[in-house]
Amino acid sequence: MKQYDVIIVGAGPAGLRCAEILGQTNLKVLLLEKDESFGIKVCAGGITRKDMAILNLPDSLIEHKLTKTAVHSRRRSNHATAPEPIVFTLSRQALGAWQREQLNATKVEVRSNAKVTQVEKTTS
Ligand SMILES: Cc1cc2nc3c(=O)[nH]c(=O)nc-3n(C[C@H](O)[C@H](O)[C@H](O)COP(=O)(O)OP(=O)(O)OC[C@H]3O[C@@H](n4cnc5c(N)ncnc54)[C@H](O)[C@@H]3O)c2cc1C
Repeated sequence: MKQYDVIIVGAGPAGLRCAEILGQTNLKVLLLEKDESFGIKVCAGGITRKDMAILNLPDSLIEHKLTKTAVHSRRRSNHATAPEPIVFTLSRQALGAWQREQLNATKVEVRSNAKVTQVEKTTS
């Protein structure tokens, strides 16, 4: 039986990023995803500037840049336009594919169609 230092269950943005970071260490890492592909999810795809920087995402992933905000209440509405984009949107599928690609430069082993059905605690 193969042994790993870390097994990550789920290749969403968190699992993929975790794998990318651990892939820069000497740890033996396995990433398991139950679905065939990565990143397909019902999601608006909104991401902040801070998140873009943390994930080190390239501008090529950006679909829309949002600069306008609007707050509505029963009595009034307020609009504002920021000089710089506040939020970006991107395709979750494109994000997943890009994050998956980053792992090619690491030794992380990635398996899709691999659903984890049981996790046991060892006593040794
Ligand atoms: C309708 C909607 C709109 C959203 N809009 C936004 C938005 O605009 N901006 C934003 O930042 N966030 C948004 N979110 C939230 C965002 O989708 C989540 O915060 C994000 O996906 C969480 O990432 P994650 O990697 O933790 O989990 P997930 O993205 O849920 O990834 C978990 C992964 O684990 C896999 N998995 C699950 N169980 C197993 C198993 N047993 N074995 C193997 N693999 C498994 C799944 O297939 C999946 O790929 C939205 C969410 C919803 C539902």
